Amino acid sequence: MTNTVQLHDRTFAIHISDDAINKAVREVAAAINRDLEGTNPLFVGVLNGAFMFLGDLLKHVHIPCEVSFVKVASYEGTSSTGQVKQLVGLGENIKDRTVVIVEDIVDTGNTIEHLVESLKTQRPASIHICTLLFKPNAYTRNIPIEYAALRVPNDFLVGYGLDYDGLGRNLKHIYKITE
Ligand code: 5GP
Ligand code: MG
Repeated sequence: MTNTVQLHDRTFAIHISDDAINKAVREVAAAINRDLEGTNPLFVGVLNGAFMFLGDLLKHVHIPCEVSFVKVASYEGTSSTGQVKQLVGLGENIKDRTVVIVEDIVDTGNTIEHLVESLKTQRPASIHICTLLFKPNAYTRNIPIEYAALRVPNDFLVGYGLDYDGLGRNLKHIYKITE
């Protein structure tokens, strides 16, 4: 088996194996089962990147819960544009609900801040953040990242839902861009 993959013009090398990802996902699910029991949380997956994480996460969430999605975009190529576009909004009424936003990755925090501000206007009981990957050294906001499955350095990553200009979302490992 090869440890690298070519996507468009760049080469990526395995950074986090599927075994390590699955273990981290199960640990986050266990924390959510423990903390949010009895609240019937609404998981709000952020498309496109969070689709694989949310699917795997929910297989290990055993408390009653509901699922929905929003769609936003802020990245072009390998860097953030700083602007968050909401492409599909939330259909559900979240007044007095416990909401868990599920992200693929929190980088600067721009996207998550935008989402939290927008959902808060509907007066949910609480909003929790759950992300597969968290880049603490890039994070510039104050919203607590309560559930982060894996902490990663400031490298550009693909796989397990994350893309490089559309490619790589289907990879089961997480890959890091090479020089
Ligand atoms: P933020 O708004 O926190 O700066 O960026 C969040 C969004 O940028 C994520 O939801 C994700 O779509 C994208 N992003 C941030 N870092 C990476 C990365 O390393 N790889 C990929 N593929 N997307 C990233
Ligand atoms: Mg995203």
